Amino acid sequence: MANDLLSLSTNEFIVGLEAVARRFDSAIYPQQNLPADDWTSLTRAGVLLPTLPKEYGGRDSHSEMCQVVETLSEWNLPLGMYVTVISAVALRPIVLWAGEEAKREVLPLYAGDDPMICGFASTEPGCGSAMSGMSTTFEDVEGGYRIRGRKHWQAFSLSAHWWLVSAKNDEHGRREYGYFIVKRSEGFRTLQPYEPLGLKVIDYGLNEIDAVVPRHRRIAAEGRTLRPMAEMLMASRAMMAAMGCGFLRRIRREAHAYADRRKIGPGPMSGIRFVRYRLAAIDASHTVCAALNHYLRTVLDMRDDMIGAFPAVQAIKTVATERMLSAAHHYQQLTGGEGYRCGSPTNISAQAFLDARVYTIFDGTNDLLSQQLTEYCLARTDGRALSRFLAEWPLTASAVITHRLDLGFLDQDLRQEHLVLAGRAIAYVFAIGQVMRWAAETGTDAGTAWTAIEFLKADIAGVATEFGLLSTGVLGVGDEPAPSKTGVLPSRSIPVAAEV
Ligand SMILES: Cc1cc2nc3c(=O)[nH]c(=O)nc-3n(C[C@H](O)[C@H](O)[C@H](O)COP(=O)(O)OP(=O)(O)OC[C@H]3O[C@@H](n4cnc5c(N)ncnc54)[C@H](O)[C@@H]3O)c2cc1C
Repeated sequence: MANDLLSLSTNEFIVGLEAVARRFDSAIYPQQNLPADDWTSLTRAGVLLPTLPKEYGGRDSHSEMCQVVETLSEWNLPLGMYVTVISAVALRPIVLWAGEEAKREVLPLYAGDDPMICGFASTEPGCGSAMSGMSTTFEDVEGGYRIRGRKHWQAFSLSAHWWLVSAKNDEHGRREYGYFIVKRSEGFRTLQPYEPLGLKVIDYGLNEIDAVVPRHRRIAAEGRTLRPMAEMLMASRAMMAAMGCGFLRRIRREAHAYADRRKIGPGPMSGIRFVRYRLAAIDASHTVCAALNHYLRTVLDMRDDMIGAFPAVQAIKTVATERMLSAAHHYQQLTGGEGYRCGSPTNISAQAFLDARVYTIFDGTNDLLSQQLTEYCLARTDGRALSRFLAEWPLTASAVITHRLDLGFLDQDLRQEHLVLAGRAIAYVFAIGQVMRWAAETGTDAGTAWTAIEFLKADIAGVATEFGLLSTGVLGVGDEPAPSKTGVLPSRSIPVAAEV
């Protein structure tokens, strides 16, 4: 069946997928783990094919990977995540860095109609943000590697057939990290299922691994630092733009329709000016995600090493997910008490909010990613003030110059709390530049772009206000002294200048 899909044009392929995706409309689709039969109908529609190279039966298309996820997310956001984890997180590193023997063993399984699932196991009960604290180990044994440890919160904990697992080895007096393709039956078992608040189509849990895998199933990756893991997460972080774009197209449509339908007093709710302000905020969030999605589709390529796109991807992930969450929040507020009902027949806002909630947390918590974005920039200022650097940096210069952004508040010794906030501001500046670029390249009307940019400028002003708030001493006295700018040591997972 999937073979028939290989000859379709992109347009025909996506139209076919759209018809299947509608059947999973979150207004009617049950809040439950996706049954295998339903996953089969999606694999038959070819949702994994764009990720796979042609020689393994795939369509090998970056743009289609994005369009599949955007389309699914419009109808059912958790399904967009479902496909993102399997394609962009788990299968992509295998396509890019596994040896031929491992690829031949695994990839064809995902090109057919079978409801095959592959997960990515990195987070552990003891560490999520600082993965250098991982306790899962690998050791050389006869016939391959033995991997032992516990992982938790893995998507598809109970259902994945194959895993990509990260582990460490401290045996030879120096730390080495490794990434292994593990078959569930080789020793991956779920000790305890977790019940998430949202994303109900995906199963989660606490997992134990004690597996011996053959040598050819180790992924070729530098082992001294966690940079390969940062790279492996870049595609899913970038994919947040596609998910946000599809999801917010839906939320925007639903919120406007609800506000027009609902009578408050003699007129429709949408006649209330503050309601219109909330709707404008939702529209602006959609515009921002559409612009970031345009960048994802036209500049990035998930079929290649993405380490050079590190700062853009950090910005995309943090801004897109914040936008998803804030728009879901506005929508839920607009639906009043009906928005607090599970399964309300009038709106999908309660579940939309619960589904969107985790996006700022997982795949690298936004606070950490913001800090890393600032550290990345500080490591490249070459003695310039940070605001000056941003006025000259290709990712932010056009926005700073065109909109005369005053980023002078960033030019001070930055403590950890400032690094996080500064990273948010840098990401908003990047987003302004992308809205400008998207508007110019797609011919979108100037008013739509202008509104989104005004919201982003207000976000930057909000960060400046938070800098002022911190300067009042709200964190209390007795803190450690602020580091000097030259003394900021970026995390070892942040790419160094030579890698970009
Ligand atoms: C629904 C869901 C799906 C997931 N899917 C997977 C998966 O498929 N595979 C997988 O391996 N993992 C998965 N995870 C794990 C996820 O990636 C981690 O939860 C996430 O990276 C955060 O790690 P943690 O939970 O250990 O939080 P912690 O590391 O304990 O961080 C908690 C909080 O501390 C604060 N914090 C941390 N560092 C900083 C900083 N530098 N600056 C400011 N504040 C900071 C932030 O507020 C942060 O949210 C999933 C998690 C969830 C909830």
